[in-house]
Amino acid sequence: METNKYANPFGDGGQLSLSQSITDEQKWRYWLEVIDRGVISDISHQLQGFEQQHSGRSVNDIFRCPFCSAQQKTAYEKTRVTACLRETGGRYGSSSRGGYQFHCFRCKSTHTLFQFLEATENGQIADQYRWDRFRRKLTGAGWNCPLPPKEQRDALKNPLYAGSDVPPPSKADRAAAHRRRYEDQRRLDYIHKHRCPPPRGKSD
Ligand SMILES: [Zn+2]
Repeated sequence: METNKYANPFGDGGQLSLSQSITDEQKWRYWLEVIDRGVISDISHQLQGFEQQHSGRSVNDIFRCPFCSAQQKTAYEKTRVTACLRETGGRYGSSSRGGYQFHCFRCKSTHTLFQFLEATENGQIADQYRWDRFRRKLTGAGWNCPLPPKEQRDALKNPLYAGSDVPPPSKADRAAAHRRRYEDQRRLDYIHKHRCPPPRGKSD
């Protein structure tokens, strides 16, 4: 019997039963698929002429190239669909690890999904995407997504952020939040003591 490599390997609704052992490869393939497809679906409304093409088990997303469509001279060329987000590596049993990649056959640009997000001014989505991949150990050497900055990686050692679904705030943001809490508390203490708000002054 053929097993579906992309089924949920944890048995909840997927095709693999708990009696079958789940390989590491099945796990990372599952999470790669879930994370990459999720991001593509989040940005699909930005991509003009977006359409999904299914071929076998693969899904290719085609659309107008955001980098070279605008500077074309004819209406036909401007609206021509020349770009795609496609799966790479490992889909057909090769040993390299997969993930999605952008390619345009007219301007020949090729980007990993992460680079594509950054190049299309989706910095915040890129940051979240890299964090999701990092938490599933799908970034860095051998993967098509870089490790998050050291500051974010270090935050994993902080119990406050270890299980965080969103990238931890930068050190500066954390310090600012801490300072705001401290100032709010001082104001409250003043009100408790004096029964009136503190005077506006140098401390504000
Ligand atoms: Zn192009």
